[in-house]
Amino acid sequence: PFVIIAIDGGAASGKSSTARALSERFNLLHVDTGSFYRAITAELVRRGIAPENLDALRAALAALALGTRVEGRAARMEIAGRTVDPAEIRSPAVNAAVSHFAAVPDVRAALLAYQRGQAGVARGHGFRGLVMEGRDIGSVIFPDADFRFFLHADPEERARRRALEGQQDSIAERDRLDTQRKTAPLAIPPGATAIDSTHLTLAQVVEKISVLVAV
Ligand code: C5P
Repeated sequence: PFVIIAIDGGAASGKSSTARALSERFNLLHVDTGSFYRAITAELVRRGIAPENLDALRAALAALALGTRVEGRAARMEIAGRTVDPAEIRSPAVNAAVSHFAAVPDVRAALLAYQRGQAGVARGHGFRGLVMEGRDIGSVIFPDADFRFFLHADPEERARRRALEGQQDSIAERDRLDTQRKTAPLAIPPGATAIDSTHLTLAQVVEKISVLVAV
């Protein structure tokens, strides 16, 4: 059967490394929805559209031709047939802007069907399922996912991990914005298994999840 694993958590909580490892272990499509919000943010920033400028924002969102390219086991968003430069979606400008765009209900609505459609992408490419990471996957996108997890880590540990990646990113500020927004705020989905990874290695987190998934 087709398997859906939802992983939610705050910034730098270990979602991406965990989801990538699970995608390899279980032959799943790895869908990083943060990269989708980042790609759209990069595009809107490039066009000079501010999150407060709702008319321009809505017009731009309605005209975005979104597609998906599968690279290895990862889903990459295409906008008008091109993937957004990976360096650009991790840039300080996008780090600073993404949570402001993600708080706008129109932005989230524009991504809803696209994210659910990743199940069809995974099927079409012969994967056994998908592992999707984000902030509202187990609550909004796939509330009936087969497995739902929420990753935690102490703020100091998360800042340390991000710094190791050489990134300029105020994760505490993004978490504040993501937790306080009205639409789909960052929270543990009801019924999700919470894992605190502060004192765990990546391999230990993956093992904890794998034991439960056991597909
Ligand atoms: O996962 P990542 O930290 O790259 O996500 C970047 C930002 O995208 C988050 O801080 C959040 O504002 C937004 N996001 C979201 N919902 C998701 C995934 C990401 O609001 N499902």
